[in-house]
Parts: sequence; structure tokens; C-alpha cells
Amino acid sequence: MLSDALLELSKLIPPARLLQSLAARITYSSDNSKRSAVPAVVILAEHINEVQQVVRVAGRHGLPVTARGRATSTTGASVPTQNGIVLSLERMRGVLEINPADRYARVQAGVLNGDLQQQLAPHGLMWAPDPTSAPYSTVGGNLACNAGGPRTVKYGACRDNVLGLSFVDGTGALIHTGAFTSKSSAGLDLTRLLVGSEGLLGIIVEATLKLLPKSNVARSLLAFYSQVADAAAAVARVMCLPTTPSALEFMDGSALRLLSQHQQLELPNCAAMLLLDLDGPQSALDESEALTRAALAGAGCLSIERAANDVERAKLWSARRALSPTLRLHAPNKINEDVVVPVSRLAELSAGVEQIAAKSGLEIVCFGHAGNGNVHVNILYDGELEAQRVHAATALDEVFALVLKHNGTLSGEHGIGIDKRPYMQAALGAPTIDLMRRLKQCFDPQGILNPGKVLP
Ligand SMILES: Cc1cc2nc3c(=O)[nH]c(=O)nc-3n(C[C@H](O)[C@H](O)[C@H](O)COP(=O)(O)OP(=O)(O)OC[C@H]3O[C@@H](n4cnc5c(N)ncnc54)[C@H](O)[C@@H]3O)c2cc1C
Repeated sequence: MLSDALLELSKLIPPARLLQSLAARITYSSDNSKRSAVPAVVILAEHINEVQQVVRVAGRHGLPVTARGRATSTTGASVPTQNGIVLSLERMRGVLEINPADRYARVQAGVLNGDLQQQLAPHGLMWAPDPTSAPYSTVGGNLACNAGGPRTVKYGACRDNVLGLSFVDGTGALIHTGAFTSKSSAGLDLTRLLVGSEGLLGIIVEATLKLLPKSNVARSLLAFYSQVADAAAAVARVMCLPTTPSALEFMDGSALRLLSQHQQLELPNCAAMLLLDLDGPQSALDESEALTRAALAGAGCLSIERAANDVERAKLWSARRALSPTLRLHAPNKINEDVVVPVSRLAELSAGVEQIAAKSGLEIVCFGHAGNGNVHVNILYDGELEAQRVHAATALDEVFALVLKHNGTLSGEHGIGIDKRPYMQAALGAPTIDLMRRLKQCFDPQGILNPGKVLP
């Protein structure tokens, strides 16, 4: 019974952190997907034992628990179950230890990615995952979604940059995984199983993160192309080089026009642009730039430019980061997917998306982390118009079918949440989904942790 559970919870959590007003529950009812469901109660946890106790109470009363960082998920992953419990980690935001010699940081799950990076900077270190949402998303949420960003092409996403975790499973047990060392082959890799599990297997309370020397980006290059396929071919050439750029981003012609219109950037009217960052020791930069320029040049390359200085570089990147919100100025609604294909298939992906756009009569704007084959496909439409809604839904089905045909995957960094569940069976196949269900059963026998997400 809900009322019994609330009574038990009120004995464990002080009233100021056990939010039951409708206003508070509505505040915690949605995420960036614009979906929503109003929970029965919101708990702002401050201690690991509170997380354990809340999970145990939820288990006794069969109530769903949705872990929540800052709810920047774009897929509905952090939308609670109606009348369930929201367990927010936002107050557990301590950086517990920074250990430069052993290259790790131990943090609580609710620390913001951006705050952590600021504390690491004086040590000349960074945590590689750099989602655009870094200033306002939590490390716990990043880990739960296997978040990444532009730097992923060279330094990896969350899964590549975590040494160990402490999490509370669906029975309330506190489990420690991994090690404090950069090498470990002791047993099954539960750490990486938890990363990307979107709150289904456990609630991450602490993490030991692998640190890297801070990437000092010294040069940024821009390359413009007359055809998207030519830009895609250049990406494949760059990824064959002995030095990998620390960012390799792609923008199609529509994205460039939006940037010119809304971000006061003077960009040529062409089919595609690549934006690359080069980092590394000063002594190696000239050679690295020469090799990269040679790879960028080739069929369809109109020009290659270098950002003149740090100010120009910062302007380019802030425009790149503003692209996604800028789309909202352009069309009332958008479906934003973050599909991935092998880099060598980028040209086929963009040709296929162009066909889908032409067939649907809708504008589809593509940009993203080309070096990982990770493209944000934005289907723009007016949700007030029935025909456009239908065309957008059909276009989305076709985009996923196209991606799977080219050995791709549904999501590179945003995860599955609620939105992409219907496509999981086709993407992974029944035996794999069945194994995932059995794993979920082991970690969460009563199925109370973030039900209704990821698994179809
Ligand atoms: C403007 C904008 C830009 C973005 N850019 C990027 C980008 O560049 N790259 C990228 O990867 N993503 C991006 N995202 C998506 C989003 O920011 C990331 O998925 C981020 O990792 C979510 O963090 P959060 O703290 O907001 O988590 P939430 O949204 O609160 O939660 C996300 C999921 O993680 C689970 N979860 C949260 N905390 C925990 C925990 N402690 N233990 C277990 N499960 C937990 C939740 O239950 C949910 O399933 C962007 C979003 C926005 C709005």
C-alpha cells in the first residue's frame, strides 16, 4: 500500500527531503523528452544508507523507484512511473578524492560533470566524457546513459573511463565493483554492465573515474564539401591517420544555414562541413595538421581553414553546442535521434536520410560526432499538423531501419529510455533481449528499478 510505504519513508527521511506536495511532484515528473508522469513522492537522498532503505521500503511495497540526476535525458529514461518514487541523487554531489598519481577521482553520483572538470583542471587532469549537457548533468546520469561528447572520438565515452562503482541493487544491497587500478582482470566486469543500464540494474551512489591528462586543444580546422558523401569519405580517411583528432564533428548544409542565420557565423553555402580539433604536444602539431589537411583534401573538398585564435575557436564550438536548441527556433517540433553507423558507412547513412527526407516532405537536419559515426538525425515537423506527425513517425521508423541495415546501432550516447524501446527487438534480437531480462531479474528480482524503460 502506498500510504504504508509513505509512512515508513517518513520515519527514515526528514520532511524537507521527502517531497509530497503536488508542485514538487510535478517538478520531478518529466525530463528533456517532454514526457511526464507524476510520482507519489520525491526523495532527495543525502546518504548511501538512505538510498538502501528507500529501495528496501519500495521492495516491500512493490513500488517502482526511478533514480534521477538532473533529468536532462532526451529519451524519457528519467521520467518516473506514475505514483512511483523518484530518488534524486542531486544532493550527493561530493568529490571525495582526486588522486593524480593513480589517475582516478572518487565522486558521489550527483556531482555535476562540469563541476568535477573544474576541480580536476588545476591538477592538469580531465574526465573524458564531455556531453554538451556537462554543466547541468550528473556523473551518475552520465554513467547510467554511457554519455559521451565530441572528445569521445579520441578519449572514449563513460564506459571507457570508469574504474569502479558502488551501487544499490534492487534488494537494497550495496555492491562495489571494479578496482582503483587501471588494470584488473578479477572476475566479471560488472562496472561496465552497470554503465549504460539507465537505472534498471542498480542505483549508482559512488564512482571511481579514470582520469586523463587534460586535452589542450591547440588547433581547430574547418573543411567544407560540395557533397555530404565527400565529407563522409574524408572522415573515413582522417580516422585512418596515425593521430586521431580530439574532435571530429559533422554538420550538413541545413545545419550550416541555421548556424549562419542564428549564430552570426559567416559560413559558405555548401553541403557539409567538418570541424576538427587537434591536441597534443606543441612539437607534433605541425605534422599532425599537415597529415590531417591531406586527409581532408580530396574529391569535393571546397576549402580547408584554420580557426585564427582561441576566440574564433570558442565561437565555433559555442555555435556547434547551440545547434540543437537552435532547431527549436526553426520548427515547432523535432525528433532528435543519435544513431551510429560504422564510419565507413556514413555516406550510405546520409544518402538514405536524404531519400527519407524527400519522401516525407520534412526537413531532416544532421550533425554530430562523425569520427564515431554518431549522427544526430533531427526530423523537424509541426506537431499541430496530423499529416506531418504521421510523416515524422514513418520517417523515424525508416531511419532506424536504415541504420540497422548498415550495421549501426540505435543510440551512441543518449540511450534508449522509453522512446526507443519499440526498436530494441529488431536491433538486438530476441535471445539478447531475453538475456538482458534475466540479468535484470538477478539485479532487481522484484522489477522495481526504473520499470518500463529500455527493454521492450
Ligand atoms: C541540451 C542537452 C545536450 C545534451 N548533450 C548530450 C551530449 O552531448 N552527449 C550525451 O551523451 N548526452 C547528451 N544529452 C543527454 C543527457 O544530458 C545525458 O544523457 C546525461 O548523461 C543525463 O544526465 P542526468 O544527470 O540529467 O541524468 P537523468 O536524465 O536524471 O537520468 C538519465 C538516466 O540515468 C538514470 N540515472 C540517473 N542517475 C542515476 C544513478 N545515480 N544511478 C543509476 N541510474 C541513474 C535515470 O534513471 C535515467 O534512466 C544532452 C541533453 C541535453 C538536454
